[in-house]
Amino acid sequence: MQVLEIVRPSSPTEDFRGQYGELNCYSSIRGAIEAEASNDSVHLFFPDVLQDKAAEFLTGFRGRSMYAVKANPHAEVLKTLYTAGVRDFDVASIREVELVAGLLPGAKLYFMHPIKSRQAIQRAYMMGVRAFAFDHMDELNKILEETGYAEDLELFLRLGVSAKGAAYELSGKFGAPLDMAPMLLSRARQVAMKLGVSFHVGSQCMRPGAFSEAILQAAAVVGHAGIKLDVIDVGGGFPVAYPGMEPPALDSYFQTIHSALDMHGFADAETLCEPGRALVAESGAVAARVELRKGTDLYLNDGTYGALFDAGVPEWPFPLSLITADGRATLDETSFYRCFGPTCDSCDKMEGPFPLPVDVAEGDWVIFEHLGAYGHTMQARFNGFYSETMVAISRETDTPNTISVPTLVAAPTLIA
Ligand SMILES: *Cc1c(COP(=O)(O)O)cnc(C)c1O
Repeated sequence: MQVLEIVRPSSPTEDFRGQYGELNCYSSIRGAIEAEASNDSVHLFFPDVLQDKAAEFLTGFRGRSMYAVKANPHAEVLKTLYTAGVRDFDVASIREVELVAGLLPGAKLYFMHPIKSRQAIQRAYMMGVRAFAFDHMDELNKILEETGYAEDLELFLRLGVSAKGAAYELSGKFGAPLDMAPMLLSRARQVAMKLGVSFHVGSQCMRPGAFSEAILQAAAVVGHAGIKLDVIDVGGGFPVAYPGMEPPALDSYFQTIHSALDMHGFADAETLCEPGRALVAESGAVAARVELRKGTDLYLNDGTYGALFDAGVPEWPFPLSLITADGRATLDETSFYRCFGPTCDSCDKMEGPFPLPVDVAEGDWVIFEHLGAYGHTMQARFNGFYSETMVAISRETDTPNTISVPTLVAAPTLIA
């Protein structure tokens, strides 16, 4: 879909490197913002950061790392992950199934939403999906009925584990109560080709111990059911560093999980994890322009109905930086600002307080960093404000001439 506001650079600027897939690629954020001359906010994507993060999961976690697509379903993000070696994708809706299946025919899809429509189950199965999650007997029956009692199903019982330590609780909505779980597992064992349990300790989980506690609870349930389990899926929730939230290194999560699996009888089980945020957050940022300044209130061209939902509603502390409109150096002194989004709704407000230079002015761009997860995908179209402008930024910002355009032009090749 083309939008009038998207302005392609008519003549390659010094910072323009060519295409990264469907995205214009630049060597610097400032160069990108100036060349795109966008009326909307600008989504920045750092493919090399994403490749490194994917490698960290693929080499550090001993099982398979499946990407939770909802965190950022952009085609270039999905293709970059696939190219980096990610082959497993956690999808939650039939549109996500169709998106990933269409883009990455070699990917394995796991339909991990515990509550699916009958049409979605039927269509997903027809499209080759075999892995489905459930957290209730009625959902298990739906899966069986809509797949014609297929004999090649991989079924995952989503457990409602209790594990403290996440900034975003996810246990309030899904997950079988632990006292019901053994009965559900026994029933599923009779019909599943492969049987697994899954859980989610909550997003931005700051304590590796939350994973071992959840694994212990899963072990108790499996013991109670007296069945053999094929797969354990430890879910998402791996954290990212934000100001005031400095989690332990990813590797200490992996080590904690590995030893808990060995200790609690899962040494031989196939292992999966489902990172969303931790895979993609650091590979994205959103640049929002100051349209007007009133004292310490900044009126931006993006907000809570756009990519900045997390900055306004859960008041997530994103790292910030500023690109000045005129290239001036900013003053060292900091002020604390409140920000407003562009829609006419007074809810479209981000209290912050956001620390930025005292001399922020109209036309400057505020960069919300680490917003590659739950940013672009959150946009509504309320009031006509949204952005389809996404650009790739190559890492070597200081040495634009050392990367030749051809290496970046090499769009990910997909294996059918
Ligand atoms: C959202 C979600 C994830 C990803 O969670 P993160 O906290 O972003 O890692 C993984 N699995 C399921 C089932 C989810 O709903």
